[in-house]
Amino acid sequence: MTAFRIGIDLGGTKIEAAALDQGGAMRLRRRIPTPAGDYAGTIAAIAGLVDGLEREIGARASVGIGIPGTIVAATGLVKNANSTWLIGQPLGRDVEAALGRPVRFANDANCFALSEAIDGAGAGQGTVFGVILGTGVGGGIVVGGRIIVGANAIAGEWGHNPLPAPQPDEWPGPSCYCGRSGCIETFLSGPGLAADHQRHRGAALDGRAIAAGAAAGDAVCRATLDRYAERLARALAGAINILDPDAIVLGGGLSSLSHLYDEVPRYWVRHIISDTVVTRLLPPVHGDSSGVRGAAWLWRPEEAG
Ligand SMILES: [Zn+2]
Repeated sequence: MTAFRIGIDLGGTKIEAAALDQGGAMRLRRRIPTPAGDYAGTIAAIAGLVDGLEREIGARASVGIGIPGTIVAATGLVKNANSTWLIGQPLGRDVEAALGRPVRFANDANCFALSEAIDGAGAGQGTVFGVILGTGVGGGIVVGGRIIVGANAIAGEWGHNPLPAPQPDEWPGPSCYCGRSGCIETFLSGPGLAADHQRHRGAALDGRAIAAGAAAGDAVCRATLDRYAERLARALAGAINILDPDAIVLGGGLSSLSHLYDEVPRYWVRHIISDTVVTRLLPPVHGDSSGVRGAAWLWRPEEAG
């Protein structure tokens, strides 16, 4: 009998759920709006999704959930979630009670990294650093097919380190919501890219428009993308010098900037303390599906039966 695994990606605007079969193929997928601001409603929505999927597959499944933030092991309470109505809530206990089974939780960036490491761009690589370049900058680390959570549950969260080797016009850098200035996120998030372009040209464009402008021959847009690639190289070199991953997989909206995959490795060599660099920088394979896929993979096939 096939053991199904349900993965849920609990986002700020939508909740996605999918059922993976034993081999990791996605059999069913559902998406509903998040009951934003409504904690009890969020629990009920998760339970409803699991119930609906299990009715269709005709079997009880394991359940893994990716959340924006983390559940603190010592207290069982959610922290660091941008879905603020979850903060301080015993989400794990409440979902387990609603579903009547143990449920595994992980940060959504960790789920992305796990999905890409298991059977995505990083498949077969020993150490994978999954990097989210989107509204924010986050990341997750997977070694040997397992998420590294870390003592403080922040492993891979490089977005609020300072941008390394800042140039005079990058110092002290834009102020960040975290209370610091010049965080990697303030330069490399989608809003960070747009703000950088605006500082240099005075025009408000998003990443997609800047990429389109560069492709059409606009030199100022091209220069913005070059600055972005060079800064990403500096920032990733700092991570490579510590983690030395086999592969770095980019995710989030800015992972679609195709110039990064050639240019960043050209820039990063000068900042990496090795005369040869074999770390690969790769686009994601699963794209938007990585959240649900990685959540489902919090249970191994042999555990789900
Ligand atoms: Zn910050």
